[in-house]
Amino acid sequence: MPDLSAVREQLLKRQAELRNRTERANADLRHQKDPLAADFADQAVQRSNDDVLAAISDSAQGELNQISVALRRIEAGQYATCAGCGTEIAPERLRSVPYTDRCAACAT
Ligand SMILES: [Zn+2]
Repeated sequence: MPDLSAVREQLLKRQAELRNRTERANADLRHQKDPLAADFADQAVQRSNDDVLAAISDSAQGELNQISVALRRIEAGQYATCAGCGTEIAPERLRSVPYTDRCAACAT
């Protein structure tokens, strides 16, 4: 059984980092500090940057969802239980993939 309070702390820390990153990306996307240029070519550069920012925000959001699921599973005392087959997920697997809710067999 992994040390749940340490895992929880690690997840909360990562959650804070990701929230920060998403907020910054979203603020940039709204062009609060960088209003869209009048020039079309400059706008194209800004818009392609927006795509990158949106991708950052999307991937952070996906990870945030996984973290909140993992935190709920910790609260429910089911962190190490496979959501697929109900057996215990190997501690090594939880260490390498802390947000997983499946054992190695169910994940593949
Ligand atoms: Zn399983």
